[in-house]
Amino acid sequence: PPDVEELGKSTWTFLHSVAAKYPQTPNKEQQGDMKNFINIFSKIYPCTWCADDFKDYLEQNAPKVGSRDELGKWFCEAHNEVNVKLGKEKFDCNLWKKRWKDGWE
Ligand code: FAD
Repeated sequence: PPDVEELGKSTWTFLHSVAAKYPQTPNKEQQGDMKNFINIFSKIYPCTWCADDFKDYLEQNAPKVGSRDELGKWFCEAHNEVNVKLGKEKFDCNLWKKRWKDGWE
């Protein structure tokens, strides 16, 4: 349904932007907050079947919250998992920061 796509696009924009602003060297509290956020997010994401698959993904792939680059790549890989499931092209995760933080040249 179109609202699942709209919701998805907006949400990925939000999540990748969160990673772009995450500290390069997060302290323990910031790391804990991010883990909690991702965990709560997986329970409240309003597309139920999307959330169920994301929860499974989380169980197999613990969030990497040790630095901005780790988190950005982790979200990129999670997004790629959905891309593959939907038959879309994979995104090159070495380019996540260019896309979501620094902008294309
Ligand atoms: P999107 O996939 O929304 O991507 C938006 C933009 O992000 C792209 O234009 C590109 O510039 C960039 N981008 C693409 N891939 C990456 C990447 N790997 N890393 C960084 N940037 C990237 N839809 C379903 O139909 N079924 C599902 O089960 C499902 N599960 C989802 C789970 C989650 C947690 C989320 C947030 C969304 C889910 N969606 C699901 C929605 C789906 O992922 C897309 O958002 C939706 O199909 C719209 O796709 P789009 O082509 O507009 O681009």
